[in-house]
Amino acid sequence: MIIVMGNTSTEEDLERVVGAVKSAGLDVHISEGVEHTIVGCVGDVSHLDRNELQVLSGVQRVVRVMQPFKLVSREFQEEDTVVDVDGVRVGGSRVVVMAGPCAVEDREMLLETAEIVRDAGGEILRGGAFKPRTSPYSFQGLGEEGLKILREASERTGLKVVTEVLSPEDVELVAGYADVLQIGARNMQNYSLLRQVGRTQRPVLLKRGLMSSVEEWLMAAEYVASEGNPNIMLCERGIRTFSQYTRNTLDLSAVPLVQELSHLPVVVDPSHATGRWRLVAPMARAAVAAGADGLIMEVHPRPAEAKSDGPQSLKPDTFRQTMREIAEVARSIGRGVNNG
Ligand code: PEP
Ligand code: MN
Repeated sequence: MIIVMGNTSTEEDLERVVGAVKSAGLDVHISEGVEHTIVGCVGDVSHLDRNELQVLSGVQRVVRVMQPFKLVSREFQEEDTVVDVDGVRVGGSRVVVMAGPCAVEDREMLLETAEIVRDAGGEILRGGAFKPRTSPYSFQGLGEEGLKILREASERTGLKVVTEVLSPEDVELVAGYADVLQIGARNMQNYSLLRQVGRTQRPVLLKRGLMSSVEEWLMAAEYVASEGNPNIMLCERGIRTFSQYTRNTLDLSAVPLVQELSHLPVVVDPSHATGRWRLVAPMARAAVAAGADGLIMEVHPRPAEAKSDGPQSLKPDTFRQTMREIAEVARSIGRGVNNG
């Protein structure tokens, strides 16, 4: 249930409402909008008397949120959330590009890639230090050493850093180096990990699970938000279907759909969605046209030598060309990108 306070309501009105909700044993989340302050009531709302709340001073209306996800729903917050990644705003008018290799392989290649990303107009550097590989025998990442390299690349280039955290015990360590904590597709329903990143205020990039519905994805975001971290970016990275010729099937309709259901920004990953570098630029253009607030793409200076995901990694020239194209598409719908 949400309680919308009128624009002439006072601090005392708000305190009284919050007190009434808390005394019914519920948690309160307050969202200060431009027009209204909204009090979100989280928990078992059956003990709340809607009529009693409705007549409290300053209350404009009391709305039952019909969706199972509450804090992340559009009903709870009308305005778009803009996630501030240490100065890079995701969810505003500009489309933000995150790019880099699948994994941090070594210092030289990462620094080289970071410069390519920065010079082409990317704003956030991606790179896995802890890799969730399907096979336990595949390259698992450099761990903390990889995080240190990412931080150095960030200091040299000014790019922010997004990197995956695999387990709740590693959240503090990864948050010590990363500007954005990535929750991978395979961990989208790892609820203890979601709760742990929710206890930080660090922006979170929440990838959609391989076989997850939009509702399950938003419920995962709700886990993060319910712990007190509202800085969530959703990332559509393709879902598994019967289609054989692509790694996954990019569900582009999820972009406008999720923007209707939720106020959170949406990022698209055309690399993992397709698994094929030739499909990355067309899907990146389409994602921007569909209204994505950001893109995350794999770029490698020499994809043939990549330790993971070489076939879907863009070479520097193709990446630069893709950046020019998405800037055009962004402009055509009244948005820009960093280089546009
Ligand atoms: C990644 O982005 O490094 C990754 C492993 O992607 P996903 O979790 O979407 O498979
Ligand atoms: Mn990858």
